[in-house]
Amino acid sequence: MKPDDQNGPGEVDDPLNDPFVERYVPNGTPLTPHEAEILHILQEECAEVIQDASKLLRFGKENRPDTGITNTQHLSIEMGEVLCAMQLAIDAGLISPVTLDQGKWQKRERLKHYMQTNSEKTPTVMDWAVERWNAEVAARPLQNVNRRPLDDTWRQVIRHFGGDDRALCGPTHDELVNP
Ligand SMILES: [Mg+2]
Repeated sequence: MKPDDQNGPGEVDDPLNDPFVERYVPNGTPLTPHEAEILHILQEECAEVIQDASKLLRFGKENRPDTGITNTQHLSIEMGEVLCAMQLAIDAGLISPVTLDQGKWQKRERLKHYMQTNSEKTPTVMDWAVERWNAEVAARPLQNVNRRPLDDTWRQVIRHFGGDDRALCGPTHDELVNP
């Protein structure tokens, strides 16, 4: 590398002009304009969730004087818009719905260890059924002969009490075995 005083304008001080550095060449498939637009929408909506979560934390649940609707409604709308962007990403094949469910379920498990507060609502029968699914099914190896019938049974109980078993427990046993 030449001393600074011998550089031409923008020459050696600019790392992109250094001939002795091998530049990394990305080898991933570039996004189509449609895929890129979906990710822009997703980023924008996630940022709006951050903004409305901040307003709720700072000012509480009630009406926001500038809009006349509550901070909880604002957050609900923006989270719905994130779900819409997620569905667009699923429809475009950018993300996998099965992996999405796995991520949701794994996060719920990790939070059991890390969260410092508990829900103050009274546990329901459905909460109990989900707890039993977690205890009897979640950690059981996929090869275990009892996993499928137990998974099926607890999901029936959850659905009987009005729960969405996929939202609460993630993909079914069969979906995990044959993704
Ligand atoms: Mg929005």
